[in-house]
Amino acid sequence: MNHCRTLLLLALLSALPETKAAVLFEFDYSAGAEFLDPAAGPVRRAALEDAAATLGAVFAHDARIQLKVTSSNDSQGDLLASAFSEDPEVALDFFGFSPGIVQQKILTGVDANGTEADGGVDVNFGQPWDFDDQVSPDRFDFKATMIHEILHAIGFSSSIFEDGTDGFGTPPGEPGVWSTFDKFLAGPTGVSLIDDNYALNGPAWDSASTGGASPQAGLTFNGPNAMAANGGQPVGLYSPRRWEEGSSGSHLDDDNPALAGMVMLAATETGPYSRELSAIEKAILEDIGYTLASTTTPASASLTIQQSRSTITLTIAGTPGSYIIGTSTDMSNWKPLTTLTISQNGTTASYDLPLNTTSNKAEYFSASPQ
Ligand SMILES: [Zn+2]
Repeated sequence: MNHCRTLLLLALLSALPETKAAVLFEFDYSAGAEFLDPAAGPVRRAALEDAAATLGAVFAHDARIQLKVTSSNDSQGDLLASAFSEDPEVALDFFGFSPGIVQQKILTGVDANGTEADGGVDVNFGQPWDFDDQVSPDRFDFKATMIHEILHAIGFSSSIFEDGTDGFGTPPGEPGVWSTFDKFLAGPTGVSLIDDNYALNGPAWDSASTGGASPQAGLTFNGPNAMAANGGQPVGLYSPRRWEEGSSGSHLDDDNPALAGMVMLAATETGPYSRELSAIEKAILEDIGYTLASTTTPASASLTIQQSRSTITLTIAGTPGSYIIGTSTDMSNWKPLTTLTISQNGTTASYDLPLNTTSNKAEYFSASPQ
């Protein structure tokens, strides 16, 4: 009979935590009196910063975005809040799609306006806001609204005016300068409204921009990722029959029940609202150039070791993924022994190692995500 000379020890190595990329938002409150209110200010600022951090973590980009905060206290108007990105200067002979300062900075690291704020957020505190995570039915979800607004500053925004002109007054039919989002602006059947020469199709714009509810009518977004996330169909954008400046074209379609509850609808009601981007909204962000953080949890597995007379059986159980099985006699010099793959949840993977009866050394095993 063989004596067991091998000390078997379970040693699970976890992968080093990676520093996660994120877009960080920094706020200048100096022009936002309501945010500096001695009593209410701290809660308001904390809620804005929490919402911005939630949104920033969606992106696999490293950037620091400076937003200038303004505020008002108007209980009569129906304005809740707004946000914008500054626009970079473009050369006189440039025509095409130009990202805002915020988007350009996130995607390229270039801060085209230097030390000036990259954009702004404005909040009307005359509205009944709820700043925490238990939103009353008769109050507006402040954090959800801030996520929505900052997404506009990030680039979820059309730059086309009601008459089809761009920001420089270029009429339809002539090469213009448009937002990156506008690259994917289309009519109800998904035909792009801006052509290869960066000219807007005037008649198609006039018909779609106030066309009404999707999917039969109105503006759509035809980016490849967005369409894939929407069953192969272009995604309806808000196109009410009466143009609404700032709302038309820059939101998902409130008049299409299939999009109900999504973050980027034009209107919001009181009560808790979605703070999590839908697959369609994430896909739109990918279409306009962003890489999003992976939402899959890192693989982890535990290792169990069974010994028979002639064999050591190493078995891993855990989340799907490939794991390197390492072996060591001193817990510091690890040699890869084999790779095991857990193909789906609930299954295990095993490796049989012939028992070395001549070794007097202790032997350790580990499993670590590949
Ligand atoms: Zn909006």
